[in-house]
Amino acid sequence: MGKNEEIRQRDLAVLWHPTTQMKDHEWLQLLPVKHGQGVWLEDMEGNRYIDAISSWWVNLFGHANPHISAAVSEQASRLEHVILAGVTHEPAVRLAEKLVEITPAGLERVFFADSGASAVEISLKMSFHYWRNIGESGRTRFVTLSNSYHGDTLGALSVGDAGLFKAAYEPLLMEPLVAPSPDCFALPRDQWDEHARGKLVDMREIFAAHEGEISAVIIEPLVQCAGGMRMYPPSYLAGLRALCDEYRIHLIADEIAVGFGRTGSMFACEQGGIAPDFMCLSKGLTGGYLPMSAVMTSHEVYAAFYDEYTTLRGFLHSHSYTGNALACAAALATLELFDQHDVLTDNRGLAAQMLEAISPLRDHEHVGDIRQTGMILAMEMVAQRKPMIEYDWKERRGIKVYQYAMAHGALLRPIGNVIYFMPPYVINSDEIRQLAKVAIAGIDLATRG
Ligand SMILES: *Cc1c(COP(=O)(O)O)cnc(C)c1O
Repeated sequence: MGKNEEIRQRDLAVLWHPTTQMKDHEWLQLLPVKHGQGVWLEDMEGNRYIDAISSWWVNLFGHANPHISAAVSEQASRLEHVILAGVTHEPAVRLAEKLVEITPAGLERVFFADSGASAVEISLKMSFHYWRNIGESGRTRFVTLSNSYHGDTLGALSVGDAGLFKAAYEPLLMEPLVAPSPDCFALPRDQWDEHARGKLVDMREIFAAHEGEISAVIIEPLVQCAGGMRMYPPSYLAGLRALCDEYRIHLIADEIAVGFGRTGSMFACEQGGIAPDFMCLSKGLTGGYLPMSAVMTSHEVYAAFYDEYTTLRGFLHSHSYTGNALACAAALATLELFDQHDVLTDNRGLAAQMLEAISPLRDHEHVGDIRQTGMILAMEMVAQRKPMIEYDWKERRGIKVYQYAMAHGALLRPIGNVIYFMPPYVINSDEIRQLAKVAIAGIDLATRG
């Protein structure tokens, strides 16, 4: 038995993998990774794969990045972790200062947690609790966009609209108000703004029908990632901010997947020229090294909790690993890399190369939409282009692309029929060409017959 197969068998005897129907692994091979270097992953037998999805969107500067690795090991030799209630440490303070500095103006307070979902939970609790603290306890509802995803814990699941992840747990969840997403699927760019404007009208109707009942609206700025890399223009962000101000509703920007340069700006909100009331950060925050998240909010929100202990206005919420020093060190080193190079400018070049590399798909009869926002490029496979007919999800054509790519040196992880590239920012031109070649051939194969 080969080394890959040995690990696979031992794994399948004891592990339960995330977002996986484990029975699939009767025919779908696990990839046992031994090393990572830059955009490359290497299995137990020395085969190499381009990590085209940044290991679920967390990696920014490559695997085993020397600068981040050094910072983490240096920190590990001094202080690995300490309770953050009643205690502080310089890495946490420096990271909070840095986050306040680089996020949109008005986000002045940082609350650390350990996963994206926990950051979302915190933002929901803080928003609700803020209204309660200022005497508006009737604001108990949350608004979400159709096709949104905000994490898998019960609160985060509640404010998402991804049917697949949610349906089974419906009886346990709170019910959000769902506004239609401004998703511009299959629309030419010059129609995006008008389309998004129409969706703001729908949002206004919801706000008006529930005046005084809504605590916050939560969105994934510019790209609904788990919902299939569906995209919309910055003008929607500006319009939504204005609506939230008009109706005095909090805006929660879930930048967990899109923050840290992914969409072409450091934070997606910047493109709409807005500051949210809460910004949730995770994933790329530590460069893909360690689990950590942060919720940023305004002085105004913070001040509504600031009082004598006995008023019980405080925010009594914690996670054991809050402010973990190793994660702070990884995050600080990651942010240093943004200071050392003009990452955003380099990414513009890489994004253009990605688009160019998949240009043969423009006329493919089974590619219904190609869309891109910064370092996210998505290609959607369809049964027919005009009029558009989507593939039956049960055909699972995306997995055929996944399998083909795996056999040809690339780790893709299609979402349904959506194939996407969301690579680490250190990918080079050759690697982009190689990746595109594999994806194109995989799409050809998966859409045959
Ligand atoms: C991944 C993701 C989350 C959840 O983060 P976890 O760390 O997986 O809990 C929340 N929101 C968005 C937009 C995400 O992409």
